[in-house]
Amino acid sequence: MTVVVTGASGRMGRTVLDLAAERGVKTIAVSRSETADADTACHPEDLPAVLSEQPADALVDFTVPAASVEFLEACVDTGTPAVIGTTGFDEAELARIDRASERIPVLRAANFARGVQALLALVREAADSLPGYDVELTETHHNGKRDAPSGTATTLLDAIEETTDATERVHGREGRQPRSDGEIGVHVRRAGSVHGEHEVLFAGNDEVLTLTHRAESRRVFAAGALDAAAWLHGRDAGQYTFSEVVEDR
Ligand code: NAD
Repeated sequence: MTVVVTGASGRMGRTVLDLAAERGVKTIAVSRSETADADTACHPEDLPAVLSEQPADALVDFTVPAASVEFLEACVDTGTPAVIGTTGFDEAELARIDRASERIPVLRAANFARGVQALLALVREAADSLPGYDVELTETHHNGKRDAPSGTATTLLDAIEETTDATERVHGREGRQPRSDGEIGVHVRRAGSVHGEHEVLFAGNDEVLTLTHRAESRRVFAAGALDAAAWLHGRDAGQYTFSEVVEDR
């Protein structure tokens, strides 16, 4: 398998390249700066030409939303399946991803950790079993993360809102701000080199339930993204989810 890795000099890109090398996956690194860790390297502007000359089985993208949607155009032009791990897309960018998925297979996930798929299922189950309980979500990431709350936190909040009557997201609290029914407290921490922690707390009826996931290294995300790339190769155009990859074991 040959995988194009965009953002190859970034935190996630470097980890994907390392793991791909361990797995014997060939890589084409796309980076604005030089990277020595791939079989082939190119500048982002040269990606369309490189993909035309040297077809790849999938692209794995961990960059920024604006760059990600541009890389997706090159995938559409060359029929390359795209795995997108980048987070923080706005509505217009999401619409571009939707359009691209009419032409090529696209798998976008805010979190490629298998444990987070289990966390999502457990959070849905807890929310369903504990109606009326207060729900608070806390997430912690390294101090270089751009978007807040994290894409994973947003996915968890969507799942809670689909299952409970709580729909008002309250981001942090300050001053006189007593809790009201229907709130979901959202707390974001940015510190040090934390790879990603998400905790959902349910409290009521004199009891507290907390469900927590902690990524212990970036390798967990890189492994999921490479698994997704192998799974996506050869599929029809459309949008796929990481839960489909995990369930298809
Ligand atoms: P990073 O800042 O370390 O790396 C980003 C990379 O993108 C860098 O190499 C940078 O040069 C490149 N880049 C930025 N703008 C570009 C442009 N205009 N053209 C080409 N390349 C450009 O960030 P990171 O920690 O590697 O995270 C990247 C993204 O992945 C973030 O959105 C983050 O939230 C997300 N992420 C997702 C998961 C997941 O499991 N889905 C896990 C970790 C991180």
